[in-house]
Amino acid sequence: MKILLGGFHQEINTFAPGTTTYEQFRAAGSAMGEDMLRLAASNVRYFDSRDALRAEYQEIVKAGGEVVSGGYMLAQAGAIIEDHVLKDYIKALVDTIERNLPLDGVFLVLHGAAQTTASEDPEGDIVKAVRDAVGERAVIAVASDLHSDVTPKWVENVNIICGYHTYPHVDIFETGCRAAKLGLRILKEGLVPHMACVNIPMLIPPSEYTTNTPPLSGLMQYGKSLVESGELLDFSVYLMQAWLDVGTGGSAIIAISEDKGKAEKYACEMAARLYAMRYEFKKKLYSVDEIIRIAERNTSGKPVILNDFADSSNAGAAGDSAEVIKRIIELKSDIRALMYINDAEAADLCHKLGAGSTITTELGAKKSKNLYTPARINGVVKAVFDGIMSMGHDHWADMGPSAVIEVRNTIIIVCHEHRYNGNPRLYRCFGYDPADFDLVVVKACSSFRAFYAPITDLIYPAATKGSASSDLLSFNFTRVPRSFYPFSDSEFTPAVSAWGRQN
Ligand SMILES: [Zn+2]
Repeated sequence: MKILLGGFHQEINTFAPGTTTYEQFRAAGSAMGEDMLRLAASNVRYFDSRDALRAEYQEIVKAGGEVVSGGYMLAQAGAIIEDHVLKDYIKALVDTIERNLPLDGVFLVLHGAAQTTASEDPEGDIVKAVRDAVGERAVIAVASDLHSDVTPKWVENVNIICGYHTYPHVDIFETGCRAAKLGLRILKEGLVPHMACVNIPMLIPPSEYTTNTPPLSGLMQYGKSLVESGELLDFSVYLMQAWLDVGTGGSAIIAISEDKGKAEKYACEMAARLYAMRYEFKKKLYSVDEIIRIAERNTSGKPVILNDFADSSNAGAAGDSAEVIKRIIELKSDIRALMYINDAEAADLCHKLGAGSTITTELGAKKSKNLYTPARINGVVKAVFDGIMSMGHDHWADMGPSAVIEVRNTIIIVCHEHRYNGNPRLYRCFGYDPADFDLVVVKACSSFRAFYAPITDLIYPAATKGSASSDLLSFNFTRVPRSFYPFSDSEFTPAVSAWGRQN
């Protein structure tokens, strides 16, 4: 049994400035050929959760299969990808498939919310090219993010798609296992699954929900009960990355069953339930000043998190807002605050001046000029770093030349491009522990909650501007159909949009 393993993992924010280039894929640790097999076989963990690539690898090996590397392209969420990155990857993938035919299967890890300068459906393009190259009989199984844009092109070309059941994503490894196990059952046991996909005309910002709390927790529990009782083989709930302006997809439910009628019935039922929840996804927001005041008065000993999700680099925003330090300076607050910002020019200036120097500069808003204005800061350069930082588990992140600037009692980590923005490790690798501060800025949607839970539960979503703002009506969507919620609020009758491939 010979199975090709590969992946393309990038989440796009159409409204983020600039483009995603090869450099971002390199810096995030993309791996091709033998390097990918080493990565898949090693103990590398992404975002503190064992990755799906390793899960699929392990399942294939456990089943006695031979693994062929298809390469794994991975990048931090960001702006639209330059199309040649996708084209080159597809060409390399198809070449590898053709050199290794016949293949029994292709197991992939796809984020599912990519977009390039020429394609609205890169994952659809990938699986179509794979299907054409590998033939009708090979099994294609995919593990994907809960924030995928699951298009009919994608569904119709593959046998199995499994999405994360959790947000914050803490079941990435388990999702890879689900996809691989079902793919292997088709190959080894002759399982014939029916995979129904129902697309839902709805966009919900990821800052508005988690799977740990209602209303979404109930739907996830219901899906799991259907799998446990044997009604379904698997299910996935997809809430498409909300800042993806594409004409296809939307939110979706996938239900997989040996019984076609049950796949259709439960996919439609769960889609209706998800759409009916749309008004319940709404979070109270606080002004930056309010949160600073709350942190100043806080005597719990736990840090207050100012959740600047609108500038979340996990949601593709540029991470270059300086609004919080600006308000701290204007309010003359002596609060002990900790924050990070992307500003390559300021980081380079710190390197030029050297540790211990005083610095006066404009900080932030270098990329997001249309959203922010910079903060005028006077501070001290506490330290400079090359930005290649250990994230543990033999994994390194390249954030580019970086520095620490102290302004009043605030510590600012300045990077070319920060990583792990929802994880306290980003601060710890520079020598600062969020638990030691009164106010900690976290630029992430909901993913950070799992990582910060051991430190604090004092989390305040901020009413800030950004490429990942929860106010979707403030963006100039041009491709998403106007019939989608929240642009309109029409009746929705669930129906199967696409069926998965059967061999
Ligand atoms: Zn996600």
